[in-house]
Amino acid sequence: MLSINRDQVTNWAIRTATTLAALIIVGSALIAWLLHDRPSLSAIDWPPYPKFEAGVDAVTVTWLGVTTLLFDDGETQVLIDGFFSRPSLADIIFNAKVESNAAHINYILDEYQLRRLAAIIPVHSHFDHAMDIGAIANRSSASILGSETTAQIARGAGVPADQIIVAESDTEYVFGDFTVTLIDSYHAPIGWGGSTPYGGTIDAPLELPAPISAWRAGKSYSIVIAHPQGTTLVQGSAGFLAGKLDAVVVDDVMLGVWGLEGLGREYTEQYWLALVTSTGAKRVLPIHFDDYTRPFGTIELGPRVLDNFVDTAVWLDEIRATWDNDTRLHLLEFGTRVVLYPPAAPDA
Ligand SMILES: [Zn+2]
Repeated sequence: MLSINRDQVTNWAIRTATTLAALIIVGSALIAWLLHDRPSLSAIDWPPYPKFEAGVDAVTVTWLGVTTLLFDDGETQVLIDGFFSRPSLADIIFNAKVESNAAHINYILDEYQLRRLAAIIPVHSHFDHAMDIGAIANRSSASILGSETTAQIARGAGVPADQIIVAESDTEYVFGDFTVTLIDSYHAPIGWGGSTPYGGTIDAPLELPAPISAWRAGKSYSIVIAHPQGTTLVQGSAGFLAGKLDAVVVDDVMLGVWGLEGLGREYTEQYWLALVTSTGAKRVLPIHFDDYTRPFGTIELGPRVLDNFVDTAVWLDEIRATWDNDTRLHLLEFGTRVVLYPPAAPDA
């Protein structure tokens, strides 16, 4: 008769539990190490945007992390994106329910003097771009301009209908002296098999709190912000539609770079050609290089295992030198107001 000794069972259980515990400890330590191993921003030696004396009607931009950008000409403010509440990495991994942080948003609107806001325009509708657009619109009289998916985020936040504009692509929208055009583009193909992570649309008003996955990308845009002083193209996500910007001429490009390292050098070159070479931009300011799971105001590169922007920066330098030798790359500083469109430097 088969007899299993009680001690043998106990020994087996202890051994299994010990092995599992060891694996969990080693695995957690490995993940923690991978997430803490970040390249340093100081490895990139691009100069800040050139400083110059500007008139009273100068256009300024203030980078508020990821791709949130405040354009201001002294009369009118246009905000690209609205991402002030920062869900943590754990919130993202576990798809936690999150909501706008009212105290945080009030503080930021005051600190960065968002008092003349005419429009809030997300590059697409993921949480790291559009999470707080409703809460910001409700604290101002600004219009939210974007896709039908973006409009559902606004409706869910209770933004009045007359502050919501569903954008027609390739159409000019005027806010003071700014003329804004949304051109259809692609999201960076960084999901499984080159897809858009959390792609698709939001088809009913999005009420908060909502899980991270509830913010669907909707349409992704290239946003052209024209002003009598100059023109800037904002590309939040590193996707592109070849040929789509052939008729567009700009001075500066705010170039979304998250995910380029994983997409490869060849992709990065095609992206540069579509966004920078074709538009004739003279200054390129990368955005979306910072870890979007860090608190507002904390600028660190993402973990090396997810996206190594220092490697991407080397490619961008090489590609610039190959195709657009008189174009310059500049690094934006968080929260610092930059006067755009310096007069052309005299020929050397
Ligand atoms: Zn996105």
